[in-house]
Amino acid sequence: MSNCAIVGINWGDEGKGRMVDLLTQSYDVVVRYQGGGNAGHTVVNEKGKFALHLLPSGIFREGVVNILGNGVALDCENLWVEMQDVISKGVSITPENLKISHRASLLLPWHRELDALEEARLKDKKYGSTKQGIAPFYSDKYQKKTVMAGELLYPQQLQSHLRDILEWKNLILTKVYGAKGYTMEELWAWVEDFGGKIRPFICDTGAFLRGAQDQGKRILFEAQLGALRDLDYGIYPYTTSSNAVAAYAPVGSGLPTAKLDKVVGVVKAYSSCVGEGPFTCEWFGEEAEKLRQAGGEYGAKTGRPRRVGPIDIVATRYGVQCQGATDIALTKLDVLSYLDTIPICARYELQGQIIEDFPFPAVLPEAKPVMEYMPGWKCDISGVRKWEDLPQAARDYVEYVEREIGCHITYVSVGPERDSIIIR
Ligand code: GDP
Repeated sequence: MSNCAIVGINWGDEGKGRMVDLLTQSYDVVVRYQGGGNAGHTVVNEKGKFALHLLPSGIFREGVVNILGNGVALDCENLWVEMQDVISKGVSITPENLKISHRASLLLPWHRELDALEEARLKDKKYGSTKQGIAPFYSDKYQKKTVMAGELLYPQQLQSHLRDILEWKNLILTKVYGAKGYTMEELWAWVEDFGGKIRPFICDTGAFLRGAQDQGKRILFEAQLGALRDLDYGIYPYTTSSNAVAAYAPVGSGLPTAKLDKVVGVVKAYSSCVGEGPFTCEWFGEEAEKLRQAGGEYGAKTGRPRRVGPIDIVATRYGVQCQGATDIALTKLDVLSYLDTIPICARYELQGQIIEDFPFPAVLPEAKPVMEYMPGWKCDISGVRKWEDLPQAARDYVEYVEREIGCHITYVSVGPERDSIIIR
């Protein structure tokens, strides 16, 4: 038996979707264990280009069972829209290949609304939320003020549970934010419509996973975002509201006894970041625009330009440690081919000291990057499939990063397509 988690090492958007899509060929089950539709995995395969937000990336592989675990923020409306898009491109989604945990909590319409209301209240101190309702959803989950997907199977109990929550939520919407509340009819219409659509997919995925484990099936755990956005280990409060670290995979998937045999940490050959908060190695102006365009760094969900910069060794080393990565996938190496020299943020300068350890969030805004430069390779490497065929300068860069972050770089990705990969 072999269990593997694929996780982000940095701020998210490292190319995890592409790695899960590649690796699913060796796994029987793919589970999403945290987060919601607030980020996106882009997958390019023979069926087309897909921006997945909630669906596990194994959905494209025949015979793979995909699971949305209890740790995800289950937005039935957005999930349904996403499913229709994927189905329309010829991918089959049935209760056989998609299973939704009956213990996943429902993200309700007011979560998105509250997210937008709170960001508006914060004005220039906003967190940079994607306004998908994730923070209000997780707050409510921990306050025990939402409902579980399995309750959709028991409409009578669900109605009375929702009525209680509605009364409390309307107080917050109207009294705190001066917004319009919801009527039970409005809420119920939404629940019946979108909840009804996903009802056939809801089951006891914990039991399914235990069975799969007993049969020696191989399970892949798919994370959203990266270690630096983890609620407990990231750049708080510029984090997401769930745990993106691999250690949470067993809990959020529904298989709390799972052991992870392998953790593939995905790192991009440069840095990108969506939203607010300190981003030490950030580039601005023309330099940033060139890199952004070369890497197509625009949000999969929002389309907004991402902040970009060179690879940040200090942050990446910390991410590797938080994730307990056993292997690294370095993605988008091809994007750096246009550069004469490859910039690397090797260390930070903080309060007059040169440091190598990632600072506490409160002082991170004061950190300045200490740069190093390596020669570029200045040629197209997107067709390379063997390590020996990479230009020496590109190999030197990969080996430098590997040494500095302290983890073996097993995969080097040189293009978005499934086979644009070098395995070392
Ligand atoms: P994720 O959320 O971590 O899956 O990352 P995103 O999907 O937001 O961003 C990854 C983007 O880079 C997608 O558009 C991928 O198709 C693309 N991509 C992934 N790996 C590579 C690569 O090695 N080279 C290039 N050029 N694009 C890549």
